[in-house]
Amino acid sequence: MLSVRLDAPPDWMTRGACLGVEPDLFYPDKSDSGNAAKRICRACPVVSDCLAYALRIDTAHGIWGGLGARERQQINARQVRAKRADHEEPPHGTAAGYQFHQRHRTPTCPECRAAQSTYVTERRIASRQPTLHRRAGKAPTT
Ligand code: SF4
Ligand SMILES: [Zn+2]
Repeated sequence: MLSVRLDAPPDWMTRGACLGVEPDLFYPDKSDSGNAAKRICRACPVVSDCLAYALRIDTAHGIWGGLGARERQQINARQVRAKRADHEEPPHGTAAGYQFHQRHRTPTCPECRAAQSTYVTERRIASRQPTLHRRAGKAPTT
């Protein structure tokens, strides 16, 4: 676990709604949902700073930014997965491969260009199809 330098607290910490509130409220035991603390967080003017900070230091203790440790771990895990997905190169010759070229500003290969072109064409054709499931009882207009 990372240690927190208490000698130099970030500015937002001095504006938290939890200032002066019993700290134990923010470190509930297992039988406590922590909802009392989360209610205070919901009205806190620095809730997003607090959550970002807790996610960054990855603390496994306490309610920060309105979320408990497990909820924050889930966010961090999602972010890790999203980052990984963004860096994993999909196969060439796919629309995903084309998007990857675009995102990473690499020259598109002919296979990915062809796949993207097919994808766009299919989307165009699909968008011209009459919508058969608009509102029940209404016939398609085209
Ligand atoms: S979000 Fe919650 S824990 Fe964070 S500063 Fe505000 S009241 Fe305190
Ligand atoms: Zn490619």
